[in-house]
Amino acid sequence: PIGHLRGKVVFITGASSGIGECTALALAKNGVKLILTARRREELERVKRKCIEVSQNQLTQNDVLVIPMDVTDLSLHRKNWDYAVRHFGKVDILFNNAGRSQRALFETIDIAVDRQMFDLNTFSVINLTRIAVNYFNSVGGGHVAVVSSLAGVIGVPFSSSYDATKHAVHGYFNALRAEKIGRNLAVSIICPGPTFTNFLSESFTNTIGQKYGKNVQSTDKRMTGERCGQLCAVILANKIRESWVALSPLIFFT
Ligand code: NDP
Repeated sequence: PIGHLRGKVVFITGASSGIGECTALALAKNGVKLILTARRREELERVKRKCIEVSQNQLTQNDVLVIPMDVTDLSLHRKNWDYAVRHFGKVDILFNNAGRSQRALFETIDIAVDRQMFDLNTFSVINLTRIAVNYFNSVGGGHVAVVSSLAGVIGVPFSSSYDATKHAVHGYFNALRAEKIGRNLAVSIICPGPTFTNFLSESFTNTIGQKYGKNVQSTDKRMTGERCGQLCAVILANKIRESWVALSPLIFFT
């Protein structure tokens, strides 16, 4: 169901691991050209090699562009977006995926941590999306997607800052969709449930996190990053408006 994306160009944030990497691979298998961004250059180069390999000669070195960047440095967004457009002659889809979590009791969290979470999970998404939407307006259309979370829909314990950042992203994308109804811009909000990536283990940084993490591990029913990446590729290809990707069943709101 995603073959018609062949030859399209997708700009991915957080492409160096997890859901971003797996979505890149699912797209590459179908000949989609890619811009891979994240902070770790070596990991991006590794993902690039894998993308070319799984594409089975559909993609060459030139069809996968690696751009290392810290997405919280907003001053890099326009420069890197324009660089990608110059390289490929166009970008068709922005896939906002970079993000991280933090597990802690609400009353123990420092406001500085809340701000860091918002910088990465919300403000970087808004800023890059605005640049993309302005570009898409100038070329007659496009598609912006964001990886939110089930935590952007419900409240998850020990996850207050993260939940807030994802609820905010939901609000922005819903408003963007409402503003653009009838115009040629597709808006997708993707809400994965717990998924096997580095993400959760990295967020278990304190006692509560470790305790909670053990509980998660012992009853683990998370879906794989590969499965989530495949579903994200399907969502992009079909311009699905909102999807909950939880514990394998995929619920679409179209
Ligand atoms: P990973 O930790 O595997 O991937 C996170 C990605 O974000 C990495 O590529 C990382 O690359 C990148 N990233 C982190 N910080 C920055 C930064 N400052 N600048 C640029 N890139 C950055 O986790 P997932 O794949 O699980 O997470 C991807 C998205 O999925 C996130 O938005 C997360 O909130 C969401 N999600 C995940 C769920 C899960 O259970 N795994 C559930 C629901 C939503 P690098 O370190 O190289 O910069």
